Amino acid sequence: MKIAAADVVVTSPDRNFVTLRITTEDGITGLGDATLNGRELAVVAYLREHVVPLLVGADASRIEDMWQFLYRGAYWRRGPVTMASIASVDMALWDIKGKAAGMPVYQLLGGASREGLLAYGHASGKSTEELFESVRDHLEQGYRAIRVQTGVPGLRSIYGIASNTTSGGNAGVRYDHEPAQRGARPAEEDWDTRAYLRHVPAVFEAVRNEFGPELPLLHDAHHRLTPIQAASLGRSLEPYDLFWLEDVTPAENQEALRLVRQHTTTPLAIGEVFNSVWDYQHVIREQLIDYVRSAVTHTGGITHLRKVLDYAAMYQVKSGMHGPTDVSPVGMAAAMHLALSIHNFGIQEYMKHGARTDAVFRQSFTFEGGLLHPGDAPGLGVELDADEAGRHPYEQAYLPYNRLADGTVHDW
Ligand SMILES: [Mg+2]
Repeated sequence: MKIAAADVVVTSPDRNFVTLRITTEDGITGLGDATLNGRELAVVAYLREHVVPLLVGADASRIEDMWQFLYRGAYWRRGPVTMASIASVDMALWDIKGKAAGMPVYQLLGGASREGLLAYGHASGKSTEELFESVRDHLEQGYRAIRVQTGVPGLRSIYGIASNTTSGGNAGVRYDHEPAQRGARPAEEDWDTRAYLRHVPAVFEAVRNEFGPELPLLHDAHHRLTPIQAASLGRSLEPYDLFWLEDVTPAENQEALRLVRQHTTTPLAIGEVFNSVWDYQHVIREQLIDYVRSAVTHTGGITHLRKVLDYAAMYQVKSGMHGPTDVSPVGMAAAMHLALSIHNFGIQEYMKHGARTDAVFRQSFTFEGGLLHPGDAPGLGVELDADEAGRHPYEQAYLPYNRLADGTVHDW
């Protein structure tokens, strides 16, 4: 099963996506997601200049061997650009293997460990009333777990609030949360940690009072707190029984979570900016986290993330794979196949893509009764419509950044 061709498709239906398409000599096509939000073209260059020339003529059936060749063979290991590139090759080869076998990828990974994947959606509001409306809307859409993000009095704009609408040809479409904005410069947001810490517990109290004790609630602090601030937040949220508190401290410093853990029993999730098992070495072994937030797309693909999750399983740490709209439908499908097959599944983040994106990427997964399922089409179950993709050329877009009131740049 030799690889005859590989090409990189860049398309921007509702936002930018980078997709690797591998075709075998007998005409089987596999897709891999290589989307790195705000730095998309770095991965395109890595793939086109350094990876695609190595793929042509290689054996598409040797997935593990290809992974090791691209990882160890580069010598310069890890990093989001490298690992997203390798991830896209890995996903495409799993897609091809599934199509060749006539099976969905989750069957190749050992078969289903559950009926479906509990998914959480993103509710948000600048005010409590707006937030309640957003929670109700998500419950009506079928979500059975909800991430709650709130505005903070005195701050103009804040991570996670659905104030953004898309620009350009798709103007006005509301996303639950799509922070990357098209344009030549990133948007500037403001931040005040003390105001945030004062406000958030009252919001969770209000949400619990309105929606009751059973609904799983999640919250993302987006890497903005010091360890002692994070410990304080975790403790102040304990009465509201969070499913998890995410990304409390900047993720580079694994040891920061030790202090947080000493002070709170609120479950912790981290890892959406991690890209290899080494980023998790201490936080898993020392049981400093409860959920692994990696995306298949940013963590070396199904092959590598499965190893991370198997390692996590030994410490009762579960999956909570990254799944906002900056993961393409191909990356989402890969996450669903992996999540369905592993034993230590926790929850799956799921933001619906826009209609334009769904027209480019034809998908066979389902979302029913709050549960995702990847479907039973052979491979990953996603097909790329090249004509539709060609109608939406790349547009420069950046994630925002933060400044404090005195002008200091803060973690976004
Ligand atoms: Mg996060």
